Amino acid sequence: MKCVSCKKPNPQRWFYCKSCGNKTSESKFTTNLYMMSDIGKRTDIEFSSTTIEDDIKHQNKKLGYA
Ligand SMILES: [Zn+2]
Repeated sequence: MKCVSCKKPNPQRWFYCKSCGNKTSESKFTTNLYMMSDIGKRTDIEFSSTTIEDDIKHQNKKLGYA
């Protein structure tokens, strides 16, 4: 698995990324959904960590995870 924030490999599945310090696993499921969504397929978007965080929160609410 990879860190959802910085995309660095996280083979030991640390809960907090050793590279960027953000959570790595909490949003694994929703991140997969995010990447499958229409906006996730767009490659011309520069994703800031803030944007991803906000989107994950939004997705979590829609999925009842928050
Ligand atoms: Zn990271």
